[in-house]
Amino acid sequence: MPGKTTSITFIKEQLSARNFAPRKSLGQNFLTDENILLKIVAAGDLGKDDVVLEIGPGLGALTEKLLELSKWVVAIEYDRGLFTILHERFDNFSNLVLLNQDVLATDLAGVLKDYAGGDFHFKVLANLPYYITTPIIFQLIESGLPWKGMVFLVQKEVANRLLAGPGTKEYGALTVMLNFYGKTTKIGNVPKTVFYPIPQVDSTIIRIDPYERQDFVIYPYLHRVVQAAFGQRRKTILNALMSLGKSFGDKESIAELLRKFQINPLQRGETLSIKEFLSIAEELQIRSS
Ligand code: SAM
Repeated sequence: MPGKTTSITFIKEQLSARNFAPRKSLGQNFLTDENILLKIVAAGDLGKDDVVLEIGPGLGALTEKLLELSKWVVAIEYDRGLFTILHERFDNFSNLVLLNQDVLATDLAGVLKDYAGGDFHFKVLANLPYYITTPIIFQLIESGLPWKGMVFLVQKEVANRLLAGPGTKEYGALTVMLNFYGKTTKIGNVPKTVFYPIPQVDSTIIRIDPYERQDFVIYPYLHRVVQAAFGQRRKTILNALMSLGKSFGDKESIAELLRKFQINPLQRGETLSIKEFLSIAEELQIRSS
């Protein structure tokens, strides 16, 4: 029955049949709104050739849709109790690989290669456990794996940070590092009342599309520049970059470099665009070699 898995009655029945209380410590807030679920799925733009990674399938609301629309679903659920429920429920689906493990301790490359074959471009769709939202997103984007697109339901305030523009208080190291890998788009806000149990905060659906050029070599340099710039947000970019050490240059040569990129050395780091951070990182790479 469509919509069954998102009905509160179904969720409560499933949980109480096994004497299971949702664990706050594992970010267990189940989605109870079919329309929101459909919105997440639609943002994934799934086709029958797609391999999908789902993190935290819970009781399987999203999993059910993913199985219908894609070729393979690899779903990783940490909670043993939920895993057992899922296992029983989806027993006869031959395109589901269900794993009972911590996603952060999972060799995703190995898992996806094993189950999805040689060409394992994949998409990720998930209502993420809130307590590890950022580590999971970074595990994926920094993995070097060929992801084609990711759709996540995350806390609204995390989404605001990931979507922020220069000069705003939400703009930070997280924004710059994520947007180096892909373009982040807001799909829509989700009120906290559509979850069971109701969490403390509202959520937002976001989609991340990878940029074609993913220059992993520059990443550590960008990381250093960004850490320096946001480590002490009130410092000017000139003073912040001085902390990168003598090999990057003295005050005058850094100021000159910034002016070359049309950056005022007295600006704060938080006002720089991602492109400007990249230009500085490229120069750091050159000067470090
Ligand atoms: N997908 C379900 C839904 O939308 O109703 C549940 C989403 S709930 C916000 C997050 C899920 O992630 C829970 O099922 C939780 O047990 C699971 N989880 C928490 N930590 C995890 C981890 N480290 N690895 C894999 N799954 C995890």
